[in-house]
Amino acid sequence: MLNLSMIVKLRDNDTIAAVATAVGESGIAVVRISGQAALSVADKVFVGKGPLSNVPSHTAHFGKLTDADGSFIDEVIAVVFRRPNSYTSEDTVEFSCHGGRIVTQKVLQRILSAGARMAEPGEFTKRAFLNGKIDLSQAEAIGDLIHSQSDAAYKSSLRQLSGDLSREIRTAREELVNLASLLELELDFSDEDVQFANRKTLEDRLGEAVETVSRLISGYSVGRIYKEGVRVTLAGKPNVGKSSLLNLLLQEDRAIVSDIPGTTRDTISESISLGGILFRLTDTAGLRETGDLIEFEGVKRAERESLEGDILLLAMDYGEKEMVQSDLIYRKLIESCAKKDVRVLKVFNKIDLYKTEAFRQPSDKSSYYVSALTGEGIESLKKGLYEMALAKKSDENSVVVTSSRHFDALKRAKNSLNSAIESLKSRKSGEFVVFDLRCGLDALGEITGEVTTEDILNNIFSKFCIGK
Ligand code: GDP
Repeated sequence: MLNLSMIVKLRDNDTIAAVATAVGESGIAVVRISGQAALSVADKVFVGKGPLSNVPSHTAHFGKLTDADGSFIDEVIAVVFRRPNSYTSEDTVEFSCHGGRIVTQKVLQRILSAGARMAEPGEFTKRAFLNGKIDLSQAEAIGDLIHSQSDAAYKSSLRQLSGDLSREIRTAREELVNLASLLELELDFSDEDVQFANRKTLEDRLGEAVETVSRLISGYSVGRIYKEGVRVTLAGKPNVGKSSLLNLLLQEDRAIVSDIPGTTRDTISESISLGGILFRLTDTAGLRETGDLIEFEGVKRAERESLEGDILLLAMDYGEKEMVQSDLIYRKLIESCAKKDVRVLKVFNKIDLYKTEAFRQPSDKSSYYVSALTGEGIESLKKGLYEMALAKKSDENSVVVTSSRHFDALKRAKNSLNSAIESLKSRKSGEFVVFDLRCGLDALGEITGEVTTEDILNNIFSKFCIGK
C-alpha cells in the first residue's frame, strides 16, 4: 500500500504529449503537451507573433507549426495553460490543428522530436491525480464520463466528478481518524490506564460510520445499473416469438454501444435505451423441447445465461398462459432465478391470435400480454422493464456508487468497522479496535486514492484512452 507521500514519488519529470481527440477525419484535432518543458517544447515547434513562453496563461495564439528545418507542417491555434491552473496542474500547451490522421500524426511527431515523450493511456489524468488536482474517484469519473453510453451513466459520472462521493468518504474518514487518534493516544499512556475516549460515544460514532458506508453499499445495485446498464436475458421455447420481440424492441430504441471493459461475454447482446437507462438484451439459445438430452442441455444453457443477468424476459405463447405453473422447464427456471435474485418478467406473446378476448394488462407488474406482430402491449412491456430495473431507484440527488472497485472497498471497510464495534462491545484491548479502525480507514482511503497501490493506479488508468 502507498500513502500520499509515496504517491507523490510516482510522479516523473517527463514532458508528455498525445493527440487528445479521436483518430480520423475531423474539422480540428487537439494535440496536448504537459510537463515542465511544455512551453520550451512548444516554442521549438511554433512560429507566431512571439514565443509562447512569454504569453499569459489561458490565452490563444495563431501561428504555424514548423519542422526542425523550418518547413511548414500546419496552421494551428496554441492555447497556453500555466501551472497550476491546468488539467494536469503542470504547464500545458494545446495545439488545435487541422483534423485527419496524417496532419495530427505529423504535428505529434514533430512535438515528440522536440523533446516530449509519448503519453501513456490516461497519463494526463493520472498526473492530475498525482498532483492533487483531483482524487482517484474523480479521476475514475472522468473515464466513466467519456465511456458513458446512457443518460443515467452520464449523470452519475458527472456527480462523482463534482466530488459528491469524495466528500462523503472524506467526512467519514476524518471522523474515524479522530477516533483512531484518541485510541492511539490511550495506548501511548497504557501504563496509566486512562481512557480518553468514552466507550459508548466511540461505539455510537462507529455505528454512524457503518450506517454511511452501508447506505453507499446499498446504492450500488442502482449505481451499477446507471453505469453498465441492465442485463436482460430473453428465453423461451422455439417459435414463441423471441426474435420478433427482440427486433421490435430494437427497432425503435436501439442504442449504439461499444463494449464496456469487463462486460464482454460470449453471447452477442444488443442494447436499447429506455428512459435514459441502457438495457443489454441477450437472446439465449432457447428452451428446446425435442429429445430428453437436448432439452436438458438447452434448459441448462438458458438457465446459466439467465442467472448471469438482472432480469429474465421469459417469452411464452399467450395460449400457454395456464402452463407457467405446471410446465417443469418454466418452473425450474423461475425457481433458479428467484434464488439468485434475478427478477422474472413473463411476456405472453401473440395476443393477436386470441382476439376473442379483451386484453387488459395483468396487474401484477411481472406479466405482460403483447403481440410482436402488431406491436400491441409493447409500450407497457417497456415501461414494465424500466420499472422492474429501477425498483430500488435512488433519489436523483443522492450519492450513488457505480464502481465495483468502490463497492468492494466499502464492503471491506464495513467489515472492519463492524469488527471494531465488536471488539469495543466485548471490551477487548484498544489495540484490537485501533487495528480494525485503521483497516477500515485504509479501505475507505482506497476509494479516493489516499491509500493506493501502483497496481490499482495502473489498472485504473490503463483503461483510459491515450490523450486523456
Ligand atoms: P422464436 O423462435 O422464439 O425466435 O420465434 P420467432 O420470432 O422466430 O417467431 C416464430 C413465428 O411466430 C414466426 O413465424 C413469427 O412471424 C410468428 N410470430 C411472432 N410473434 C408473433 C405475434 O405476436 N403474433 C403472431 N400471430 N405471430 C407471431
